[in-house]
Amino acid sequence: MADHSRPSRRVRPAVVLLAVLAVLAALLTACGSSGPRNLLDDIRAGHVVLGTKFDQPGLGLQNPGGKITGFDASVSTFVVNYLADQMKVPHPKITWKETPSAQRETFIRNGEVDTIAATYSITPERMKDVAFAGPYFITYQGLLVRKDDHSLNALQDLPGKKLCSVAGSTPAQNIKKMMPDVQLQEYDSYSSCVEALLRGKVDALTTDEVILAGYSNRWKNEFKLVTLEYAKDVCVAGKIDGKKAQVLKIAGTPFSYERYGIGMAKDFPEAVAKVNEALRAMMATPPSGGRSIWETDLRDALGDSTVDAMIARADAPGSKFAFTPDPGDLSFLDSASTPCPEGMK
Ligand code: GLU
Repeated sequence: MADHSRPSRRVRPAVVLLAVLAVLAALLTACGSSGPRNLLDDIRAGHVVLGTKFDQPGLGLQNPGGKITGFDASVSTFVVNYLADQMKVPHPKITWKETPSAQRETFIRNGEVDTIAATYSITPERMKDVAFAGPYFITYQGLLVRKDDHSLNALQDLPGKKLCSVAGSTPAQNIKKMMPDVQLQEYDSYSSCVEALLRGKVDALTTDEVILAGYSNRWKNEFKLVTLEYAKDVCVAGKIDGKKAQVLKIAGTPFSYERYGIGMAKDFPEAVAKVNEALRAMMATPPSGGRSIWETDLRDALGDSTVDAMIARADAPGSKFAFTPDPGDLSFLDSASTPCPEGMK
């Protein structure tokens, strides 16, 4: 008896180890965290996982039935279907994944999504971790304020106010860096910020104007939008040649430019180039004239009056606001800031 039991006792740890490894491998695959995904391979295989927001009306919103609507969702869908047509394969099945602001780089790096179009600004810091196609939209940091609050009308009214924004977002970082005397509460979603604003727990929500427009359209007559721009020439904290420096902001310059990209793994530059091609096709004027698919989808998502106001502001003489993005052109990342002139504050 004793002789028989000995060999089986020696085998058991190895078997258990193998079983554990098999379960771990299966779990990693199921979670999609087996390495970055290549969009082109997944389109060819017939199934893509696209990241977006689920709580931002007009941009990425999950309806009660589970359907995802909004401009970011339209752009992502156009891109994968356009590329599938180009590759002469059927349109892939789309699984949507909610990608909160603070988790986007991680989701891309871990291969939990093929792409993220989620009001995702292209920044040099994020480009250390991920690649971006785009920009496919340009917006600016602004404020959402309760309609009956007459104390907050411009950038210079911010000191001493209580704001909310979202952790991991550029607007939250901008406030911390540029406006240390503003109290900032960081939530994990903009919808919880809107709740806090409605209940009077904060004075304003700050993020991209296009996101704020979506909430303001949704809660008719509750809120007003405030543009954030420099009222006079000033010197502010910035960077020159990658080093911290005081930089000049001319009167009328937006507080921040937010250019939306489609975030993707850094490993597949060909996929990024193809997505840029798809974005340019979406923005092209149809041969018969009229609006591009891009502008039609934008108007459907945000409403004509919001889009008309964006175009009018960009077209005004001397405006420092732009409307039309240029997919594939990331030269704005290198555009030099002007040093603060001697003796100016
Ligand atoms: N566009 C900004 C960002 O990428 C704010 C919007 C967001 O948090 O999704 O951080």
